[in-house]
Amino acid sequence: MNLIIFGPPGAGKGTQSHYISNKYNLYQLSSGDLLRHEIQKKTELGDTIEKTISNGSLVNNDIVNLLVKNIVINPSYKNRIIYDGYPRNISQAKNLEQILNDDNQSISFILFLNVTRDVIEKRVEGRLTCEKCNKTFNDYFNKEEIDLHTCGKNHLKKRKDDTKEAIITRYDTYMKKTKPVLDFYSSKSYFHEIDGSQKIEVITGKIEHIINV
Ligand code: AMP
Repeated sequence: MNLIIFGPPGAGKGTQSHYISNKYNLYQLSSGDLLRHEIQKKTELGDTIEKTISNGSLVNNDIVNLLVKNIVINPSYKNRIIYDGYPRNISQAKNLEQILNDDNQSISFILFLNVTRDVIEKRVEGRLTCEKCNKTFNDYFNKEEIDLHTCGKNHLKKRKDDTKEAIITRYDTYMKKTKPVLDFYSSKSYFHEIDGSQKIEVITGKIEHIINV
């Protein structure tokens, strides 16, 4: 089963992908994480990526497509990937279709988490990510969970692109470049829209229901 989780920044794609990948033994392919991993390597490519990410724009397709392809064609992950944050424009959607076709794979579900802009702003501004286990929390909404987190509070960091300025650009980029991908997918029989403003566990339940039917 290959699954795409689609939606604006802050829709909860990462959070849901984390739960669903654990439950169904899928590989969580987060293009954002792949890019942040490149930044940590401190290479010239990493520097270029860092500049693009911190101003909220999309990283060059060739770079992202290559990072993604290396995982898609890896036999260990064949037909068990959850795509989180990819594809983010029409060219990437076509690229994914091509790689999957060439490798005799297909998409089983596209889940669109629909969230309004005001919810996104609050979620993204309060977001904290654990640098040890990659779990995300929210300073506004789940303070109790933060207190109980086993890796400890010291490992919780705010992402550099989770600032008010970068969120505005990221949302605009989503509307201009990523939203058109919805038209590409929304007529498919395996496309599902979910209200992403609901509680995390409610959304997870809806996703499980879709997958299990
Ligand atoms: P995310 O972790 O999905 O919120 O992504 C963080 C940032 O990484 C985005 O704002 C983009 O700058 C970059 N990025 C992530 N995925 C992609 C992608 N598929 N194509 C281009 N840029 C991406």
